[in-house]
Amino acid sequence: MTQLRYQTTLKGPCTLTGRGYWSGAVNTLTFLPAPAGTGVRFYLQDANDEGIEAVCENSQGMSLRTCLGGSKCRFEMIEHVMAALSGLQIDNVQVFCTASEMPAMDGSSFPLTVALLSVGKVPLRTKRETLVVTQSIRVGTDEQWIAIEPASHYEVEYRLDYGPDSAIKKCTFNSLVTEQKFATEISAARTFVTRAEAELLQTRGLAKHVTYRDLLVFSSDGPIDNQLRFPDECARHKALDVLGDLAVAGIDLVGKVIANRSGHQLNAELARRLRETYIATVRKQSAA
Ligand SMILES: [Zn+2]
Repeated sequence: MTQLRYQTTLKGPCTLTGRGYWSGAVNTLTFLPAPAGTGVRFYLQDANDEGIEAVCENSQGMSLRTCLGGSKCRFEMIEHVMAALSGLQIDNVQVFCTASEMPAMDGSSFPLTVALLSVGKVPLRTKRETLVVTQSIRVGTDEQWIAIEPASHYEVEYRLDYGPDSAIKKCTFNSLVTEQKFATEISAARTFVTRAEAELLQTRGLAKHVTYRDLLVFSSDGPIDNQLRFPDECARHKALDVLGDLAVAGIDLVGKVIANRSGHQLNAELARRLRETYIATVRKQSAA
């Protein structure tokens, strides 16, 4: 284990309001500075409890989203919030929410990234825990998998391929993961569905308020009523999801993540393996 930097928190409070994709509920998030060792902790406003820390033990990778569950409250679709905090290396923060589902905003982490950057962060006096990957870890099947390999830096690669008949074209996105790269290359990539998926969700009574302008909805001619921000926007968004999902490992990573068609469940499995590896490394070092 190498300790490379100091933990951080926000310089001051930061708020953001929007509606959740699934529930349509309005949620105002208030981010407050927190001491070293707090991690990212979500609270349901007025619940008057100790909140839930966004770590693997409490999180669940589900179809289309990642949730945080506790006995008293539950937080839905946390991955884009976690991606922004981890991408900007903001380690300790309390997140007070007025509803369970995180605001969808434009389907990306960009509005939150702008809000967090405008407040800024400060270093704390405790080193940030870091796992330098020395042995590759891979989870999944031959078709869908996510792996991390040793490297001298943190890097993410997402290989998207829904097959030759899909409206969403095959593409790969690769980037170093730094604050600057996250803010400029990754944070603005929006979530996406096919028209058939969007229609299916709406027939189930979900996302009724969501329009073609609120995320990317693909027909065979490309996004409906919308324009891509990057030619490979879908692969970039999947990379953003990977970063958000791995953030619940609660540590910085030094390694190259390669994701081949992985989703939230596989990402969550890798996050758990990384946290276990980190804990085992720390134990071995303290026993030596
Ligand atoms: Zn996403």
